[in-house]
Amino acid sequence: MKNLLVESLYPSWGQAYQPDDVLFESQTGHQHLVIFKNQQWGTVMMLDGVVQTTEKDEFIYHEMMTHVPMFSHGQAKRVLIIGGGDGGILREVLKHPTVEHVTQVEIDQAVIDMCVQYLPNHSAGAFDDPRVNIVIDDGVDFVSECVEQFDVIISDSTDPIGPGESLFTSKFYQGVQSCLAENGVFVAQNGVSFMQLDEVTTTQQRLKPCFNDVTFYAAAVPTYVGGIMTFAWASQNPEIRQIDVEALATITEQAGFKTRYYNAAVHAASFALPQYVIDAIGELS
Ligand code: SAM
Repeated sequence: MKNLLVESLYPSWGQAYQPDDVLFESQTGHQHLVIFKNQQWGTVMMLDGVVQTTEKDEFIYHEMMTHVPMFSHGQAKRVLIIGGGDGGILREVLKHPTVEHVTQVEIDQAVIDMCVQYLPNHSAGAFDDPRVNIVIDDGVDFVSECVEQFDVIISDSTDPIGPGESLFTSKFYQGVQSCLAENGVFVAQNGVSFMQLDEVTTTQQRLKPCFNDVTFYAAAVPTYVGGIMTFAWASQNPEIRQIDVEALATITEQAGFKTRYYNAAVHAASFALPQYVIDAIGELS
């Protein structure tokens, strides 16, 4: 392999990609954006040297970030997506027949534009859906000033470096608390726990003062290297998280769309955390 693109997330270890064809590369004013083709993973997008999404495994992350909160809530009409510029979360949210309106707050228009052009199957036309309102803004500013209420809020951000850093702050979580409707659910991308355990504990500490029920769920996403990917979960009503797997299996079968990773049993099992994560967050909340 030559001219490798080496991920910059960790100082002394990381994954490397052979770029067979660089489709786009630019410093967007917010971050360094590169989209390239790779024999193993198809088209890949990196932001500031960190893999964000690949054609081959994006379905795992986007289905788990979307269908766990959406099927837990059950009647989500108004959804807020923070980040998510590749459009994968938006595509999955719009599959739910209850959804009447989605606001997506993305800081970098270039990510949306380039992903529509070079990763078209991620959004699959979702950005043109009449239910969608795209806002180009910093997510922390939006939720801090927001007067609307949302049933599900999904923070599909980069890692807490660069523009993504503000989406892991108490200020952001306080803003989310203020615009989450009654019985609402908040979930967020929260890093690979074996490599970024401090992200889990910091998020736990910052969410706890805002929400009655805070925990994490997980899925293994192959190109988020280092083990399971954790997703933060927060709501004011712990009962929302309690699901009956049999009943959920019936609901998901009747939902009217197929999934490739998510199912009722995987949903339930995803909240089973490794002991080192439970020990680190003190207790199962
Ligand atoms: N799945 C990826 C992951 O887990 O790392 C995230 C993918 S998505 C491309 C991340 C998005 O968050 C990018 O489009 C980026 O521009 C956006 N973003 C980063 N910081 C942001 C902020 N403060 N407000 C809104 N969007 C932000």
